[in-house]
Amino acid sequence: MTRPVTARVPAKVNVQLAVGGLRPDGFHDLANVFLAVGLYDEVTATPADSLRITVSGADADQVPPDRTNLAARAALALAGRHGVDPAVHLHIAKDIPVAGGMAGGSADAAGALLACDALWGTGSSREELLALCAELGSDVPFSLVGGAALGRGRGELLDPLATGAAFHWVFAVADGGLSTPAVYRECDRLREASGTGATVEDIADPEPSPALLEALRTGDPAALAAAVTNDLQPAALSLRPSLAETLRAGADAGALASLVSGSGPTCAFLAKDTEAAEAVAAGLAASGTCRAVRTASGPAPGATVLAD
Ligand code: ATP
Repeated sequence: MTRPVTARVPAKVNVQLAVGGLRPDGFHDLANVFLAVGLYDEVTATPADSLRITVSGADADQVPPDRTNLAARAALALAGRHGVDPAVHLHIAKDIPVAGGMAGGSADAAGALLACDALWGTGSSREELLALCAELGSDVPFSLVGGAALGRGRGELLDPLATGAAFHWVFAVADGGLSTPAVYRECDRLREASGTGATVEDIADPEPSPALLEALRTGDPAALAAAVTNDLQPAALSLRPSLAETLRAGADAGALASLVSGSGPTCAFLAKDTEAAEAVAAGLAASGTCRAVRTASGPAPGATVLAD
């Protein structure tokens, strides 16, 4: 009997998320600077009679245990590509907040691809895996690659970025998630309402911030804190006004920067070092403005098959 294969995959925080105008195809061009952080899901692939999904972890009940699960879609896509029977049990040990703007589903898709490729001996090249990732979702290629990277297009065209040091983060996990498409729609609505318009004709092309890329390269947390931006933050705050209190609580507890992570509702706080991160985490926990508090540093490695 073939042995199970487990892949470990990190969460991400967007240190810059610049959102262009609405394209005719319904997507937005992005300048998306991803940083992988050390919160991980693990996906274990075991031979089975047919495709089966199980999920464990605090948020397991919010993850669909069927073929709509991104991990299942990834396994089906890989099996289809190679003419393999997708008879696999995928177990997801979930530690990344669900629908939290930290690319948890994307992480599971990348993990399932890697684990199934090893289990089935399909021997995909890095390029083949990245192409499958891009078909599965805009954030999936970064989950495979990890580290730090600039995403262009919908976020799927990746350039790795050098980082000079580890950055220390605190994450405030909210009650309930936010739908990523709903947050983009709210971003468009707010732009329309403000009179700027929301389409590619109205909004300047999104560009990465030179100051932010330099701060990553030198590993300077204060410079990174001064440069982080998230164009989706007003929309996330509009849909979930209580996040303003969470952001304030983190700032009051000494965070260098406070921002909504991706489409939210998880809030991310940058700290000077691990000690400062512990202080921010304690302040947030005491504030009662979030469901849970996690600390993690980044860059973290991308999807990795664990040795058994
Ligand atoms: P992103 O940051 O990429 O926008 P997110 O972190 O906000 O994503 P996910 O955790 O990926 O959001 O979940 C979004 C939705 O996708 C969930 O509400 C859930 O119904 C569905 N979903 C499908 N597969 C998974 C999975 N493996 N893990 C989590 N959610 C999944």
